[in-house]
Amino acid sequence: MIVPLADISNRGMNVSLGPWARAAAAEGVDGDVKAMEGSLELTRHGVHVAVRGELHVVGEVLCDRCRTPLVVSLGGDVSIVYSPVSTLPEKVDDEEGLPRPPVDVGFPVEDVGEFDGEKLDLAGVVREWATVERPARLMCRDIDEAENDACQARFLELSGQASPTTIDPRFSILSALKLKSED
Ligand SMILES: [Zn+2]
Repeated sequence: MIVPLADISNRGMNVSLGPWARAAAAEGVDGDVKAMEGSLELTRHGVHVAVRGELHVVGEVLCDRCRTPLVVSLGGDVSIVYSPVSTLPEKVDDEEGLPRPPVDVGFPVEDVGEFDGEKLDLAGVVREWATVERPARLMCRDIDEAENDACQARFLELSGQASPTTIDPRFSILSALKLKSED
């Protein structure tokens, strides 16, 4: 969904989330989106656009280790400022790592993005948001600690190391040494 800057007023513009938003969130989490809700409001501040609201996504994402589908719930407040590249400071974060938008939009900003200064691609906004929200490495144990051993076993099976007979004897010597040193 592309919104021209000229269509955004300084009083705000509400955006309802359609199938485009689900599709964008699915790309961002690298999985399926089972449910999505929330709302976004766009306000224009000169050449900058503030995107504010909240998003909640229930997604199905594959475990990064054993490829089992996991249901994850992501979401929260959104407050991002999009600015034309030419207006962005060279250093976007301050000393504490907080984003430094080139304009004061009247509320704390979580992130600063760039756009071409003419039109904002809202699907891109949702996709980037979902990418940031998704844990960089998601494994079964993040959802259920008790699943960790089963996850490890599935991973070994996937990578063809399930049978003990395939373990190189040199490795079993190493693991015996390791056990000894842990005493
Ligand atoms: Zn797993």
